[in-house]
Amino acid sequence: PTTSSIKTVNPATNQVEKQFDVMSEEHIEHILASAHGAFQQWKKTPFGRRATLLHNVAAIMRDRRDELGKLCTLEMGKLHAEGVGEVQLCADIFDYYADHGEQFLADKPLETAIGSAFLSYQPIGVLLSVQPWNFPFYQITRSAAPNIMAGNTMVLKHASNVPQCAAIMEQIFIDAGAPIGIYTNLFVPGAKVSQLIGDTRIKGVSLTGSEAAGASFAAEAGKHVKKSTLELGGSDAFVVLADADLDLAVKTAALGRLWNAGQVCVSPKRIIVLAEVAEAFISKARAIYENIRIGDPLDPSTQLAPLSSEKAAQEIIQQVETAVKQGAKLVYGGHRVDRPGAYMEPTILTGIKPGTAAYSEEIFGPVLCVYAVKDEAEAIALANDTVFGLGGTVFGTDTAKAVAVARQIDTGMVYINHTTGIAAELPFGGTKNSGYGREQSLAGIHEFVNEKLIRIT
Ligand code: NAP
Repeated sequence: PTTSSIKTVNPATNQVEKQFDVMSEEHIEHILASAHGAFQQWKKTPFGRRATLLHNVAAIMRDRRDELGKLCTLEMGKLHAEGVGEVQLCADIFDYYADHGEQFLADKPLETAIGSAFLSYQPIGVLLSVQPWNFPFYQITRSAAPNIMAGNTMVLKHASNVPQCAAIMEQIFIDAGAPIGIYTNLFVPGAKVSQLIGDTRIKGVSLTGSEAAGASFAAEAGKHVKKSTLELGGSDAFVVLADADLDLAVKTAALGRLWNAGQVCVSPKRIIVLAEVAEAFISKARAIYENIRIGDPLDPSTQLAPLSSEKAAQEIIQQVETAVKQGAKLVYGGHRVDRPGAYMEPTILTGIKPGTAAYSEEIFGPVLCVYAVKDEAEAIALANDTVFGLGGTVFGTDTAKAVAVARQIDTGMVYINHTTGIAAELPFGGTKNSGYGREQSLAGIHEFVNEKLIRIT
């Protein structure tokens, strides 16, 4: 048996399902050479043919959404319905870039006093994409779809706990008619990534994952003068204004926090409410969590799935215990569920003080942290008192007022009366330690192209 860390462990049972060998140096060399060779042709391939490939990928994913959704559940535990929804979103993203890519990359005339000039958007080569497990198909889709449409080729290093999702995506590209080398999966450990960044055939690199991985990844990219984008952690604020519909705000925050068992970079991680409604908010949230059905993620009636791994469950419980030791109040949950698998209860913490771990760290699990503030100014200050700057929510019935508050929150995205969401046509990305660069929308296809000036006298 292999001792590889690349394996499927079902988080609902903690049973090892399948293991994969780490690729040899020769195998990796073959993949890089093939991706580099494929680029020489793909960059010259007309947009129409690239669009056909992306539409084919979308159609296969839609067709196989049930099976692909189950694979997400098997490897990282998410609810089956969430997995199916994710696969449909991926199909939409592939279609979106197939339909809009050519227009997004059309020559752009520039006004100049010296002759005429325009920008030409040209692909740059093989890209290395490093992705996390929490949305096994969506994370790779938002990286692959725009870049392959732009004429780049891609090698993917997926998280070590979702190897079957990683492998099947490569097969979907092949089944969709992709020439060999356009999109290839690499089974390599995280430690191998720096060597890949240094390879001269790799022209751009992107990582979605933790702040620690992102920092070392970007340092390595900087050393080799390679363009990088980073989508890192978040600790999104969910600000409830005085005029908000409280019941709707509670429901949106409490259930939003359980999406993907709380393992979402843009999950509402810090709920900020005015002191006069804090008690009501907390008791309503508690009532919701008391009735949450925890169980088999394949059962359609289950509302809360296991975490992605035993290690993740232990880490989140540890974070909750530390928070309590440091003075926070455990209102609900905070414990493992008495059944096999990486389960934990939906949890509510209040009274988290500045300077404590729970105040500053991202909690990547189903833990609703509720903060009480005296007024709107304090709410904004608290929302911004974090190293992260990914998404956020403002809840209120006066939209103009909510937008005014949203403008003052230092993040890449703010949603009004909704948790931070995802759509092909809307940009996704952060500021501060949540990273840089954007995925999806027009912005997402401009990250890894050479914006070349051509000036005519
Ligand atoms: P992680 O440990 O950073 O892993 C993410 C990916 O990076 C995996 O493929 C991992 O490979 C690889 N990796 C780990 N260490 C590396 C290194 N030193 N150099 C290069 N690659 C390395 O992330 P995680 O903790 O599993 O994922 C959760 C984090 O991702 C959270 O912080 C979450 O907020 C963030 N996230 C952000 C976004 C966003 O769009 N901003 C979206 C989703 C998740 P191995 O699996 O082989 O270690």
